[in-house]
Amino acid sequence: MTEMTSLERVATALSGGRPDRVPVTALTISRALREIGGPRPEDVMNNPETMAEAKLAAHARYGDDIVVAGLDGCFVEAKAMGAETKISEHMPIVSENRRIKSWDDVDRLPTPDLDDFARTKAVLEEASLLFKELGSHTAVAVIVSGPFSTAGNLMGPDNLARALIEAPDQVHRLMEKVTDYSIKYHRAFAGRAHAVVVLEPMTATELTSPAHYKEFALPYLRRTFQEIADAGLIPINHPCGDTTGILDMAVDALPQKPPHAVHASFGQALTRPRSLKWVQEVVGDDSISADPGDPYSILMLGVKKAVGNKTCIAGNIDPIGVMLEGSPKNVEAAVKQVVAYAGEGGALIVCPGCDLNPDIPAENLVALVEATKKYGSYV
Ligand SMILES: [Zn+2]
Repeated sequence: MTEMTSLERVATALSGGRPDRVPVTALTISRALREIGGPRPEDVMNNPETMAEAKLAAHARYGDDIVVAGLDGCFVEAKAMGAETKISEHMPIVSENRRIKSWDDVDRLPTPDLDDFARTKAVLEEASLLFKELGSHTAVAVIVSGPFSTAGNLMGPDNLARALIEAPDQVHRLMEKVTDYSIKYHRAFAGRAHAVVVLEPMTATELTSPAHYKEFALPYLRRTFQEIADAGLIPINHPCGDTTGILDMAVDALPQKPPHAVHASFGQALTRPRSLKWVQEVVGDDSISADPGDPYSILMLGVKKAVGNKTCIAGNIDPIGVMLEGSPKNVEAAVKQVVAYAGEGGALIVCPGCDLNPDIPAENLVALVEATKKYGSYV
């Protein structure tokens, strides 16, 4: 097989096929700003040229296969719908000063034109710049928020969790409104990106039960992903945190036919004993154990077995223990494991399980890409 371009490689994996080698992305989102001198995210986030410059610099340095547009991907839709911004340690997020204080507020939520709201406009333009520069040969993805997490940002996660039990009809009314607006934004990336990664941190089973996922997240995600696919974009589902309890539904939310993917850290075998038990059950082997130095990779064994013939799986190098606190040798070992557990037949993308801390050392990002090239070859 001749060497593929990054775009061909990623498209093949997302379609369920076997490329020349496993594709890899370093997921340098806020971390990319370090490549241009480390400006504060809040100072450059509405400047698409600077954001694109940072992403291009990171891509040029690390040579990964997917470039990601966006910064505060979990929060843009909520901000557009009126949530207030605040600055956390690394990222402009939304404040506790919620937009929805009573159910009447649902009718009053603003839905600004995408070109009239600074954040939506800036991310769309950033994606356009990356797509123009790289899109003919390298995959461009954009991070956006899933409707359930946007609802949580508009209400406060604790208020949303209570409302799922106390006012389910009102939650559905909110979800309808949020989903309609979100889809408009997501579809606007057609011609500006190849793939849309929908982030749903609030559907992690640590926060939301599988039963609530099924009722309040799944139907809206299904509509979201279908609309993304209908717009000619490739949908990627990113449920954060421990996903073992909702993995089947997370795949079921995607359109029937690939290309598509589920990206996650999927679980952690040492601190979440249920995760390891899940792998043992799926694989049918009680003796499977976790590596104390890398308790994430083992999850890929179960994920591949459970859903690897239905969608492409992307993950799940431990973003903290390996990428932030580990050495290049640890990164290489984790990549080797992930490829061994989930590489067979293709439909795998190696990447950190979630967004990267800005303090991740450059040599670990180099190691991530180099190790994938070393161990991920199919030819
Ligand atoms: Zn995540």
